[in-house]
Amino acid sequence: MNVLARVAAGRLAAARAVIPCLWRGQYFSSGKEPAEDNSVTPMLRHLIYKIKSTGPITVAEYMREVLTNPAKGYYVTRDMLGEKGDFITSPEISQIFGELLGIWFISEWIATGKNAAFQLVELGPGRGTLSGDILRVFSQLGSVLKNCDISIHLVEVSQKLSEIQALTLTEEKVPLEREAGSPVYMKGVTKSGIPISWYRDLQDVPKGYSFYLAHEFFDVLPVHKFQKTPQGWREVLVDIDPQVSDKLRFVLAPCATPAEAFIQCDETRDHVEVCPDAGVIIQELAQRISLTGGAALIADYGHDGTKTDTFRGFCGHQLHDVLIAPGTADLTADVDFSYLRRMSQGKVASLGPISQQTFLRNMGIDVRLKILLDKSDEPSLREQLLQGYRMLMNPEKMGERFNFFALVPHQRLHGRHHQMNACQSKPSPSPVAGFGELVWR
Ligand code: SAH
Repeated sequence: MNVLARVAAGRLAAARAVIPCLWRGQYFSSGKEPAEDNSVTPMLRHLIYKIKSTGPITVAEYMREVLTNPAKGYYVTRDMLGEKGDFITSPEISQIFGELLGIWFISEWIATGKNAAFQLVELGPGRGTLSGDILRVFSQLGSVLKNCDISIHLVEVSQKLSEIQALTLTEEKVPLEREAGSPVYMKGVTKSGIPISWYRDLQDVPKGYSFYLAHEFFDVLPVHKFQKTPQGWREVLVDIDPQVSDKLRFVLAPCATPAEAFIQCDETRDHVEVCPDAGVIIQELAQRISLTGGAALIADYGHDGTKTDTFRGFCGHQLHDVLIAPGTADLTADVDFSYLRRMSQGKVASLGPISQQTFLRNMGIDVRLKILLDKSDEPSLREQLLQGYRMLMNPEKMGERFNFFALVPHQRLHGRHHQMNACQSKPSPSPVAGFGELVWR
């Protein structure tokens, strides 16, 4: 039995809170929705004070403050995921999503020679649901992984979410070690006995053979926004509205600003969003993978350098004006995969972006769904599995808007198993699972 079939034969379906919730890839907008909540939040007061003292701020600074300010930031203070929160994500919709990602990592581990140890590093783990589903696959494939020394490393800025992750993932009987000031601010042991640690920054995660995972993480990193004008590129800034007290508005910078350096010389769009933080993280991942091996799997909504204004807000499963009641709503912008590819070039090979629908189909989602349906005789659970499948796969829902992108060492694509056959006109399918059609052997 291959890896996928063995997991497929595994456990029954777990109940997931589903639907009809808003997922963040859904709409485009920025600041055009009617203002629904005019309350002056502590974050708004903080921003007004800041702008009054030092002048208008970039959209990137606005996003950073609103989302991750250590005292008042949106991510730092609340659990925003799921039915009662502001938006829903794929791992929260269906267990199959995380299971297939778990298989992807094991498949890469096997294909690259079954290293004696690996680290699974997740960036922005939310409630820990995705890592939980992956760890379950690791347990089910215990016989395959039995001699491998695995550790889990979570990069999370939110104290609140890290507590929820610990509840989801760790063994209650083993007390967590906490050290607020240390780069490793929490440590414990997972329910299946694997060491698990928390960090605020990827830089602090030990270097070593690792698999990296980022699901709906890059879209919350701060973007700079630029508008093309007759005078050249001008950065969009956030200022206080002179007409209405306690209200913010967008303005254009009167002259060039430093982040303009991130715009491509041959850029043809008239509005662009650039995310230097994403570049820094991708370069770090590429550097690590090129030195020690492993791979990174990145899944998010985004585009290949084609879209313009994608900055938007979500609150209570509704679109939300990004400048209203800051700190109470999620802010997000589509990921520019062409930029991620450029930032990784030279050090590692990149794959994708390909649609979520294609990736999950290539990973065998249909087989996994059938097995779970065959094993479950409870009608409500079967309906939930089917609803979850449709939500993940339907091109009108998450199937097309969400994309998968991977970084692997160059030799992974140019090894002897992936050479063009002299008789073939096309290169053989990708040797990396999910990025080529599933072949049953
Ligand atoms: N991956 C999860 C959660 C996505 S929400 C899922 O798909 O369900 C974004 C996550 O990234 C949250 O856990 C948030 O706290 C975290 N986050 C946001 N900015 C971050 C930063 N700069 N560094 C580390 N984590 C961050």
